[in-house]
Amino acid sequence: MKYVSTRNNFNRVDSAEAIKLGMVPPGGLFVPEEIPLVNVAKLAGLAGKGYRDVAREILGMFLTDYLPEEIDDCIQRAYNDRNFDHPDMAPLSKLDDTSYILELWHGPTAAFKDMALQIMPHFLSRAVEKLGADRETVILVATSGDTGKAALEGFKNVPGIKIIVFYPHGGVSKVQELQMTTTDGDNTWVVAVRGNFDDCQNAVKQVFGDDAYNRFLAEKGYELSSANSINWGRLLPQIVYYFWAYLDLVGKKAVSHGDRVNFVVPTGNFGNILAAYYAYRMGLPVNKLICASNENRVLTDFFATGKYDRNREFIKTVSPSMDILISSNLERFLFEVTGHDGEKIGQWLGQLNTEGRFQVDEETRKQTEHILCAGWAGEAETLETIKAVHEKYGYTVDTHTAVGVKVYYDYVRRTGDHSVTVLDATASPFKFNRAVLKALRGEAAISGKDEFEILRELEHITGMEIHRGLKNLDSRPVTHDRVSDKGEIKRDIAEILGL
Ligand SMILES: *Cc1c(COP(=O)(O)O)cnc(C)c1O
Repeated sequence: MKYVSTRNNFNRVDSAEAIKLGMVPPGGLFVPEEIPLVNVAKLAGLAGKGYRDVAREILGMFLTDYLPEEIDDCIQRAYNDRNFDHPDMAPLSKLDDTSYILELWHGPTAAFKDMALQIMPHFLSRAVEKLGADRETVILVATSGDTGKAALEGFKNVPGIKIIVFYPHGGVSKVQELQMTTTDGDNTWVVAVRGNFDDCQNAVKQVFGDDAYNRFLAEKGYELSSANSINWGRLLPQIVYYFWAYLDLVGKKAVSHGDRVNFVVPTGNFGNILAAYYAYRMGLPVNKLICASNENRVLTDFFATGKYDRNREFIKTVSPSMDILISSNLERFLFEVTGHDGEKIGQWLGQLNTEGRFQVDEETRKQTEHILCAGWAGEAETLETIKAVHEKYGYTVDTHTAVGVKVYYDYVRRTGDHSVTVLDATASPFKFNRAVLKALRGEAAISGKDEFEILRELEHITGMEIHRGLKNLDSRPVTHDRVSDKGEIKRDIAEILGL
């Protein structure tokens, strides 16, 4: 299996190289040259298997330059009971006969990014080894809160890799800060940068772009890399849980083999839903993929009109991980839908870069309609949905998941489609505790309370245990306390590496 660029501007590479490079150097994203197929017999053969077995099957079809033992080793290190607090990794929870919640938040940091970030560092470590790189890899991450912790947990103690996370000093919540600064592992560093998230991100980008500094690091035996969400190594592990969920539905006798189901995906960067699309293309029986956005509804507008336009106000919502105006992985989807038309993709993405907008032809837009439906939910609706789901089912969803639920209800009303549907739960309700408690009990319940009080109250109301990644944070030892100026981060990196 080789990987090609979405913009036809690079040679074909093996998966190890695609994962090591992250993105295509002259611009563009790596995608598999052809999509492997899982036929009905093969799918039926996976029935009753555990998460790791399903992962072995699916990952092996894409990572053909990795030995089966290597893939297995990555799986064992990622999907185990130290990292995930449920034996199914991503359990399905039944709401009613036609709707099921796929809980993707049982990993160490309480959000779905763990599903990929627990295994991707091992793919990368192996890739570096296989390609015979003689330098140690240093991962730099700028974070506005959540990705930083998920990356720290994924990369900690991975051989041959060091990770340094930069976050805006005073710009993340107390819980987010403590999640990062209490991280253990002897290859992790966390730096608070004076300034806002943009300052932080620009400072890190500047380090990546500084040739002289990168040469200096190379001489000392280090190479910088990123754990960006456009890396194929982060997308691939997400395909697994769509197969897993389907097989689990069959096991629960909610569907028969071959019945088509819907998946509802709370969407930001379009990575998670793209994984569902690849699963569909591989042969998973999917009826519709439902793409749910919050008030930053650039994708809903795009699928309705064919016009992608990021020139609009950026709205801060209660589902912040979906506050995105550039959905990077859409590029891969368009490449697939146009039958690998790299010229078109290059043109559109070029326009997005220069003008902030592009328009696809009607034929392309129509192609997307066969499989994909898009909708969005407003702020008040999101909170109302949390309350409604709790009242109806005694089940608590977080704000991102609630956006999906609301968009799904609209979809059912509009289409009358009562196919069995899997709704992705992308975060634990404890992760976005303030908004969730407000939704359930009103503004008065949160005013004047700190996050730790809110977590305890939510535990009481929901009857769920506080997610272990958020528990007792206020009593864990702080192991990282470096504070720096944005102009000083090169010096910090050198100091951390002992140069
Ligand atoms: C990242 C994230 C999303 C968006 O996922 P994409 O793959 O970027 O579309 C949704 N919900 C939560 C909680 C997230 O962390």
